[in-house]
Amino acid sequence: MNEHSKIENMGGCSEIPVLKERGQREVFCGLTGIIWLHRKIQDAFFLVVGSRTCAHLLQSAAGVMIFAEPRFGTAILEEKDLAGMADAHEELDREVANLLERRPDIKQLFLVGSCPSEVIKLDLSNAAERLSKIYFPKVKVLNFSGSGIETTFTQGEDACLASLVPTLKETDEENLILVGSLPDIVEDQLVELIKELGIKEVAVLPGRDRETMPSIGKKSKFILVQPFLTDTTEALEKRGASRINAPFPFGEEGTTLWLRSIKENYGISDDKFEIVTSAPRKRAQLGLKKLRTSLQGKTIFFFPDSQLEIPLARFLSRECGMKLIEVGSPYINRSLVDKDLELIEDMPVISEGQDVDLQLDRCRENNPDITVCGLGLANPLEAEGLTTKWAIELVFTPIHGYEQAQDLAELFVRPLKRKEALLI
Ligand code: SF4
Repeated sequence: MNEHSKIENMGGCSEIPVLKERGQREVFCGLTGIIWLHRKIQDAFFLVVGSRTCAHLLQSAAGVMIFAEPRFGTAILEEKDLAGMADAHEELDREVANLLERRPDIKQLFLVGSCPSEVIKLDLSNAAERLSKIYFPKVKVLNFSGSGIETTFTQGEDACLASLVPTLKETDEENLILVGSLPDIVEDQLVELIKELGIKEVAVLPGRDRETMPSIGKKSKFILVQPFLTDTTEALEKRGASRINAPFPFGEEGTTLWLRSIKENYGISDDKFEIVTSAPRKRAQLGLKKLRTSLQGKTIFFFPDSQLEIPLARFLSRECGMKLIEVGSPYINRSLVDKDLELIEDMPVISEGQDVDLQLDRCRENNPDITVCGLGLANPLEAEGLTTKWAIELVFTPIHGYEQAQDLAELFVRPLKRKEALLI
């Protein structure tokens, strides 16, 4: 075992030990979050202050937009900026002025930090404050970091949402806020179910534009839909809101337990819960039943990537009958995933962080039926004969809620079918 690796017991009721590793990592940076956030927040623009590498990453991950003007871009730091020979703040102000003049549709501007802007210690919070004074109320200017120095790709969304929280309007009214970005159709399904349970004031962070951002106060409650929102959770709690703790809404069981936590918090009757959830639950159960035979008993190994690993492992083991070998996550916030961890029964290795060579050795040794990993590892592992699933696909595909339970299971059936087809 590497000297950086050690087993730590997480304590609490789950008693699942965690293998902590601090070695070389293979993950995307937080800029990746802009790809789904710019679609979600429709009056926002994400201006990355970074290098040509950052611009290439965004462009290749997002594809070229032909029909619409993109709502993200990169203010490129040139060598003279990096060498401290130019006033990067002045240049940034000029870029922003040009952008906002050209694009009156922008109502929220995010200045997004990157590795280069952090290395030269460009203070974007200062810049956002200065620019806010100039452009408010027409445009709200915020900042967050998408740098890959110490983070992983879903932390970009966490940092973005956390930057929004201090700007949310104060309210004395009770409301429930769903936190985390989802495809609109999935978000609508979950909000609809909650409203049918009898809760009328339901909002979502992030809202689809500045007008629909939630209000918040001491009577607000919130529930996460994504497990990677540590900083956002802290920011919401700082504003006085209280979190409803629940397993994440993946699969039939996960969605039911997630909704049940809301039901219990609001004192909704069992009868009402049954009426609202029984039909979609049955649909999800039926969809999963069809696929369970393909996944039952198959082994799976998760490399750390999206922080979705623990809730997904719970879904795959309990609802699909898969056997977990290792569940790696870049960062485990025990208080956010404890409800999922408690439900994982077959005691796999749970690992946090990464030492990629050691983890590759463990993976090869176990020879899993499916390996969930980043793009960089997938091709070499496929060449070695392992069947892989790209972790990033799980973030880009609608997988939450009852109606997506079957699709989620199918994402894991497909690589197995492909492998079978190749063997024939
Ligand atoms: S933020 Fe850092 S890791 Fe991400 S593309 Fe730019 S230089 Fe690379």
